[in-house]
Amino acid sequence: MEQDLAKVTVRQLARAESTCPRRLALDHLDTRANRGANRGFRVSGQIVADARLAHTRLSVPRPEHFRPTDDLFPEEAQVYAVAAAWYVALFGHQPMVVSDVERDDFETIATSLGVRLIGGAGLALESESGDRELRMISIGDRSTEELLESASVKFALLRRREWTRLGPLRIVRVDLLGGSAVETDVDGADLWEPLREWLVERVGAIREHADQRAPRAGWECGRCPYIAGCSALRT
Ligand code: SF4
Repeated sequence: MEQDLAKVTVRQLARAESTCPRRLALDHLDTRANRGANRGFRVSGQIVADARLAHTRLSVPRPEHFRPTDDLFPEEAQVYAVAAAWYVALFGHQPMVVSDVERDDFETIATSLGVRLIGGAGLALESESGDRELRMISIGDRSTEELLESASVKFALLRRREWTRLGPLRIVRVDLLGGSAVETDVDGADLWEPLREWLVERVGAIREHADQRAPRAGWECGRCPYIAGCSALRT
C-alpha cells in the first residue's frame, strides 16, 4: 500500500550523511514523532496557504487575503504580519493564478524508487499569458546557494513532475522576513533527467546512512522529534 512506502523529505535528501542515523531512520520510516515537532512551520504554512488562496483566480495578492488564525502566538502573529506585507509588496504588481493544482497536496509517490516525497512543493503560478513561475516562500531563509543547487527547489520540481516537464518557467526564492528575492529562468524539460538522477543518488544516501541502532548524540538532539526513548541520552 502507498502509505507503507518510506517517507522522503527535503531535510533527508539534503542532510542524509550529517543527520544522526537513528533520527534519519525513524523519519524515513515515518515513525510518529513527538508533538510539536513541526511548530516552526506554522507561520510559513499559513502564509503559503493564504498566498495560494489569493491566487485562486487570476489576481494580485492584497492585504485582505492574509488573515492569520487565532491560534498563533503573539510573536508568530507578528512574523505573519511582516511576511504577508512583504508578499503583497513583492508580488502585488502582476496578476497570477495557481497552476498545477493537483500537486498542492503534501505528497507525491515516486513509484520506481518506492518512496513518498512528503513536503511542500512551492507555489506554482501562471500569468494570463501563460508564463509559469515557481515561488519558493520562506520566512528567514537567508540561503545564498544557487537556486538550482537548492534541495528545496529540486524537491519542488520533482514533486511537480508533469508541470516541470512542460518547459520554460521562472523560479523565485523569497525570504518574507527580510523582503529579499532571487530568481532564475530555466527549462524544466531540460532539467528533468538531472533532477531524477539527483533523487536516485540522494535516496541511495538516505538508505545507506539510516540506522535505528546507531544513535549519534550531538547538536541536533535538542530539536529531535525522536528524543523520547533514545538510548544515546540515557545516563
Ligand atoms: S535524540 Fe539525538 S541521538 Fe537520539 S535519535 Fe535524536 S538526534 Fe539521534
